[in-house]
Order: sequence, then C-alpha cells, then structure tokens
Amino acid sequence: MAERILSYEQALEEVLRHARALAVPATQEQVALHDALGRVLAAPIIAPRDHPAFDRSTRDGYAVRAENLTAGTSLRVVGSLRAGEAWRGAALSAGQAIEIMTGAPLPPGANTVVMIEHVLVENEILRLGPPRKVSAGDHIVARGSEARSGDVVLPAGRRIGAAEIAIAASCGTAQLAIYPQPKIAIIATGDELVELNPQQPEPWQIYNSNTHALAALVRREGGFAGRLQIARDTREDLFERIAQGSMWDLTVLSGGVSMGKHDLVEGALAEFGAEFFLTGARIQPGKPIVFGRVPKSGIVGPLEKKPWPGPWTYFFGLPGNPISTQVCFHLFIAPLLRALGGETEIAPRFTEARLAEPVRANADLTRFLPAELTSAYDAVSVRLIGWQGSGDLAANARANCYCVLPPRSEDFAAGETVRVLLR
Ligand code: AMP
Ligand code: MG
Repeated sequence: MAERILSYEQALEEVLRHARALAVPATQEQVALHDALGRVLAAPIIAPRDHPAFDRSTRDGYAVRAENLTAGTSLRVVGSLRAGEAWRGAALSAGQAIEIMTGAPLPPGANTVVMIEHVLVENEILRLGPPRKVSAGDHIVARGSEARSGDVVLPAGRRIGAAEIAIAASCGTAQLAIYPQPKIAIIATGDELVELNPQQPEPWQIYNSNTHALAALVRREGGFAGRLQIARDTREDLFERIAQGSMWDLTVLSGGVSMGKHDLVEGALAEFGAEFFLTGARIQPGKPIVFGRVPKSGIVGPLEKKPWPGPWTYFFGLPGNPISTQVCFHLFIAPLLRALGGETEIAPRFTEARLAEPVRANADLTRFLPAELTSAYDAVSVRLIGWQGSGDLAANARANCYCVLPPRSEDFAAGETVRVLLR
C-alpha cells in the first residue's frame, strides 16, 4: 500500500473532492414540519404568493401621501386600520390620513407611513412634528420585495434549523420532503476498552468513550449512528467488523491506525480490498488518519475477486486518542457525512479571532488545539486551554473550539489573528 501523507489543506481537498462527487440521495421522505428539524431538505420550498403579499406597514403611525404632508400642512384623520384588516373605504384623497398599525396593509392612495412619534394629532387633525420630513415608501415593505410568488425561498440541500422552519411556515408548508439520514457505522478498536455497562474496568483498562463522542457528533450532523461491538486488536475481529461496517453508508473506525505492534486496522482494511486516498495528514492531533473506501461486500475475510467492480463504502480510520477522534470528525468526517445526507454546504466551519496569549511555533504540523473563544461584544479572542495532549478529555470539555495554528517557524504573538475551528 502506497503511503499518501498530505498537508491539512490537501487532505481536506481530497475528502471534499470525493464528497462533491456523490450523487444526492435517491429517495425522499415526507414529514411534518417539526420532524424536519436537523434534517436536509430534499425539494425546494417555493413561495406560493408574494412576500409580503401586500404593502405592509412596519410602524404604528399614519398612512398618508408623502407630498401632502409637509411642515405647515395638516391632514384630517378619516379612519383607523389594524393588522389583519383591509381598508374598505374609499382611496385616500389629498388632505386625508388613515391611522395604521404595524403589520396592516397600506390603504389605497397612500404611499408612505409616518411614525406616531413624528406627528402631532389633535381633534383628528394631523400635523408633522418638527423637524421631520416625509418621503414616499417610508416604513413600508413593498409587496413582493422579500420574495415573488414562484421564487425558491429555500433550495434543496439545506439543513433545516429554526430559520428554515420559519420561512417554510411563512409559506404555509405543513409537510416537507427530506432526504433519508445517512447511516454511519462506528467501530471502536482496542484490547484495553470496556463498555459502560455492565463492566467495571480493571485499573489498566479504560472505558470506550470515542464511539459515544462520534455517535453524538453524527447525530448532531443529521446522521444515524450505529455503534458496533468493540473490535479487539485481532485480524479476525477487525475483518468481521469491517465487513459489517461496509454494509452501511460510511464506516468510522477509532484506534489501531498508528505504528504500534497491535495497530492492525490499516492492514485489515488493505486485505479487505480497501483503496486508500489518504494514509496520514500533517496535523496535530490526528496525524495517522486514513481515508479510503472498501468493497461493499459484506463478506468476512480477504477479498477474493480483484479488482472489485463496486459498490464501495467510504471509511475513515482515526487515531484512538479521543481529541484526535473529535478533531478529525469536524475536519474530515462532517463534510463527507453532510454530502452523503444531500447537504450542499459541507465544508468545515471556521471563524477568526485574535490570540489572547503567545504560542510557540511548530514548523511541520497544522495544529488544532482545544481553546476557548471569548465573545466579548467589542473583542473576540481565543485562548488555548492547558492540556496533557490528545487524550485529555477534561481539557477538551473545558474548551469550546479548536485554535488553528498553521505550520511555521516563527512563534505566534499575542494579538495575532488566527483561524478557529468551530465545534
Ligand atoms: P490507538 O490509536 O489505538 O493507538 O489508541 C491511542 C490512544 O487512544 C490509547 O491511549 C487508547 O487507549 C486510546 N483509545 C483508543 N480507543 C479509544 C476509545 N474508543 N475510547 C477512548 N480512548 C481510546
Ligand atoms: Mg489501539
């Protein structure tokens, strides 16, 4: 198997290249609006009428014709219009004003709304308060200015959150089409691992936490997470689990991809007929990550028929160190998972902030270090959390992001702007 160790940027590009080439899911489901939360829209939402459907007042005040209300003129208030009502009287004529509430439709003949705070009204006679000036179109959202009837207000491929639920509801959408969830097989490997129940770890054993972290991350990205039985560090166990995982939409393995004597995952994948696109990345944590695809054969054991004609299942083999696992999820797995789910915006999410404290350089690796983003209104800064390395789950839990430090030989200064990986 040829080694393919890439920089962070190249490794991401490799994953994105595969992700972008995926076809959208072949099937759709119809669900009630609220059951679509966190899922991916499979058919666009089309505005069934103009948004807004009428010229809408955005203030409480008076509907007038702008040219009729200047300093020194007065208008007679001939009626009142509230949200939910349409004006039934005659069109507004010169010399008239109609009281209007926020959300009410502009009555015919009027072309502007003057705010209640900007006028003086006495005995139904309205004057402009100084030093106000009125222009046509003030405090009105014109019919169709947000969207026209027939416009796509939400394209297929969008993850549905509160903003998407709101626009769908405003179009009267009670049911919508979503893609099925991608199904992700999550496999922990390691002789030292015990499950949460009912086992008690010996002092030299540890609880399996990685598949719980990965399952939570998968679910949060709208996927269905299946935690398979722990694979011990044997060829037979790995074959069995890889065969099982190959029948899912994506397989994620944790542990066993480093250089140790019992790191058998890469070898087992290779025997299983895997193609490798990435066998390592110059990142910390996460350096030994592998990415590729295995025959979707379901057969336990080395592949007999070569070359395999397809179909294939993508896999990631992640180093077992728990922070590596989580960082690699955000950097590489989330984009592929989003694409498998039919999402169009798939790239990892970064922001920028100033470093609160200086950091020593590392010339070889792009680092993604647990950090705290403090979002003060006038100064967003990022501070590294002290950690004991890529197994330190306690430090990771005190963090709220990962500070990105590109490879370079000069130290990073306090106040320098750096990228931040959001999680
Ligand atoms: P490995 O990549 O298999 O060499 O594992 C690296 C480190 O991560 C070791 O200290 C393992 O004990 C730990 N580790 C491996 N798998 C898990 C897991 N599922 N949950 C928590 N820690 C793990
Ligand atoms: Mg291991």
